Amino acid sequence: MAAPKVAVVGAGVIGLSTALCIAESCPSCSVTVLSDQFSPKTTSDVAAGMLIPHTYPGTPIHLQKQWFKETFTYLFAISNSAEASEAGIHLVSGWQVFKNTPKEELPFWSDIVLGFRPMSKAELQKFPQHRFGQAFTTLKCDCLPYLLWLEKRLKATGVQIYSRKVADLWELHSEYNVVVNCTGIGARQLVGDEKLFPIRGQVLKVHAPWVKNFIRDGDGLTYIYPGIHRVTLGGTREKGNWSLSPNPGTTKDIFDRCCSLEPSLRGAQDIKVKVGLRPSRQSVRLEREVLSQGGVKLPVVHNYGHGAGGFSVHRGTAKEAARLVRECIAALQGPSSRAKL
Ligand code: FAD
Repeated sequence: MAAPKVAVVGAGVIGLSTALCIAESCPSCSVTVLSDQFSPKTTSDVAAGMLIPHTYPGTPIHLQKQWFKETFTYLFAISNSAEASEAGIHLVSGWQVFKNTPKEELPFWSDIVLGFRPMSKAELQKFPQHRFGQAFTTLKCDCLPYLLWLEKRLKATGVQIYSRKVADLWELHSEYNVVVNCTGIGARQLVGDEKLFPIRGQVLKVHAPWVKNFIRDGDGLTYIYPGIHRVTLGGTREKGNWSLSPNPGTTKDIFDRCCSLEPSLRGAQDIKVKVGLRPSRQSVRLEREVLSQGGVKLPVVHNYGHGAGGFSVHRGTAKEAARLVRECIAALQGPSSRAKL
C-alpha cells in the first residue's frame, strides 16, 4: 500500500491533538484534517483549559488517570520549554475549596498535579464560607494560542488542513483509508449517537491581571482560572440546553458568585461572555468501528465525548486514538507489512 491516507474530522483540541499524534507516530501516513469550523469558533476556544479532570462515570478510573497523566506530562514539558508562551501553557497554583468536607479526600489525580495538600487553617481564612480545601499547582492551556500552536505544528509536520463539513463519514471512503471522528458534539448528528448530549457552559473572560491564583469551588460550578492574558470566570452546567446565546442574568450570577470568592474581581474590566456546549457522554467514545457498504470497508476510529474535561485528557486520548489508527492500517496491509508500522 502507498502512504496510508488518514482523515481526521474535527479541529477542536481533540481533532488537532489526535492528528498530531498520528503524524508523529506514523510517519508513513498522509494525514489530513477536515473541519467545518476552526479556532476561534470551536467549543475548545470557550474552555478555560485547566488541567483538573472531570470524572467520566462509564470509563475505568485507571484509564482516566493514565490519560490525565500523559496529558500532564506532555504539557509540563512544553511549559518548561522555550515554546511555553507561544503555546499558551503555564503552571498555576491555587485552591479548591469546599463548604463541607468531601467524602473522598483524595481525588484520583492528586498524585499527578504538583504539591497536592490540604489547605492550612490560615489559608482557609481567605474563604470564610468554606470549611475545607486543597491546595495544588496544575497546568493551564490558554485555548486560543494552544489551538493555533497545534495547527502550526501540524502544518510543519506536513499535515493538510481543509475546511469541509462532512455529512456522512462514508462520503470519505473513496479518498481515505482510515477516518478518525473527532467531531465533539457534532457526532450526535454525524453518527447519530444519542448517548451524546450538550452540557451548556457560560463563562466570562475578564481583564484582572492581579489575580494570580486559581480558585475553584469544590462543586465545580464556580471557578476563577487566571490565564496569561485573561481570567476565566465560571460557570454553568446546563444539561440538554443547545443555546449558544449568552444569558445576561447568568452573566450577573457568575460574576457575583466569583466576587464572593475573590472580592477584588469587582474591579475587573473588559468583560467578554462566551458560551460552549460540552460534548458529554457517560464515557469518552474511543474505539474502532468498520463501516461497510456493498463489500467495501472503511475503518473508523472514534474519539469524542470528552464533556467537561477535554483539555485535561486530550493528549492521552489522542495517543490511544493514534494507536487504534495504526492497528487499522496494519489490518489493511496484512501480516507482511505490519512490522513496518
Ligand atoms: P470541539 O472543540 O467542539 O471540536 C469539534 C470539531 O469538530 C469542530 O472543529 C467542529 O467544527 C468539527 N465538526 C463537528 N461536526 C463536523 C462535521 N459534521 N464535519 C466537519 N467538522 C465537524 N475542559 C478541560 O479539560 N478544562 C477546562 O477548564 C474546561 N473548561 C470548559 C469550560 C466551558 C465553558 C466549556 C464549554 C468546556 C470546558 N471544557 C474544559 C471542556 C472542553 O472544552 C471540551 O471537552 C473540548 O473542547 C472538546 O473538544 P472537541 O475537540 O471534542 O470538540
